[in-house]
Amino acid sequence: MFSGKTNTITSPAMFETNAYAASSASSPLESTSIPRRDPTDRDVQVEILFCGICHSDLHQVRNEWADAMPTVYPIVPGHEIVGRVTKVGSAVTRHQLGDLVAVGCLVDSDRTCPQCKSDLENLCPNLTMTFNSPDAHETAPITYGGYSGSIVVDEHFVLPVPGNLDPAGAAPLLCAGITTYSPMRRFGVTEGKKVGVVGLGGLGHMGVKFAHAFGAHTVVFTTSPSKTEDALRLGADEVVLSRDTGEMDKHAGSFDFILDTVVAEHDVNAYLNLLAHDGTLTLVGAPDKPIPISAFALLMGRRKLAGSLIGGIAETQEMLGFCSEHDITADVEVIPIQKVNEAYERMLKSDVKYRFCIDMASLGAD
Ligand SMILES: [Zn+2]
Ligand SMILES: [Zn+2]
Repeated sequence: MFSGKTNTITSPAMFETNAYAASSASSPLESTSIPRRDPTDRDVQVEILFCGICHSDLHQVRNEWADAMPTVYPIVPGHEIVGRVTKVGSAVTRHQLGDLVAVGCLVDSDRTCPQCKSDLENLCPNLTMTFNSPDAHETAPITYGGYSGSIVVDEHFVLPVPGNLDPAGAAPLLCAGITTYSPMRRFGVTEGKKVGVVGLGGLGHMGVKFAHAFGAHTVVFTTSPSKTEDALRLGADEVVLSRDTGEMDKHAGSFDFILDTVVAEHDVNAYLNLLAHDGTLTLVGAPDKPIPISAFALLMGRRKLAGSLIGGIAETQEMLGFCSEHDITADVEVIPIQKVNEAYERMLKSDVKYRFCIDMASLGAD
């Protein structure tokens, strides 16, 4: 200590935490350590308990979205985070030490644009994603996500998790959950409506649970006959094999809403034709090629084709409350982080029911 002198600290105060990162598009995820900022006045520090594995983690680790959002390496993915509050800044009012909380796909936004002012931070032009976004705090070149021991986030983007939800099953609600919940809410999925869910993977299985809980007549479209039993168990009223045109034709013009979760190339027009008049087909998967659309499929019955991307913070909190009330969590296979690369390969083969979730207690074992 130099008596009588104050040193000016120019770089922000930081600490290190364990993490798994990929150092290039062709590298596996490996054990490392990363910097986190010390919590500022409005920050919450969270010890991560569980982090779900989303397909977009894999896309970005392998730089498959190079045109839209090129990956900066090293990358630490993960945006389905559940953990415990271990530190709060002096101005934090919404969270306390020990609270069970969640962090989803967003960790910041400008708070000033019309979307932010309408609780649609997910549509903010200046949002900061949980990983692979420029880090405004300059702790690192980009933000680092949930495959790590802890994370520091502005309290506005930290969500209390209802105590009756299993923390591992709750983690995927932060991306797969809100991605399917939000468009169903927006397009009025309720009792008495007929709702389709295309694809039964991480997103689709959540879509079925929500449609069923909203009281809608729920129909699952799948290419795999082996998924029929599971679809019914998850809450579907009917299952249609989408390659059976006779079965598809029986449902022509009858749906109020269809949620299309499929990433692989497929014929969207076949589903548009199943919509009733004024019905809406919402895409939540992101096929990498443009999709051919028949104008007639839209004109006849003035049908709508829409897209949706996660949800705002208030709606995400509302969804967690809905899940608490209706006892909804994701079906997860919990893995130690050492199995994350193997999990990626299995996810590519749809060999998971229905979401991998990393138990972050395994992180210290390397
Ligand atoms: Zn995701
Ligand atoms: Zn904004």
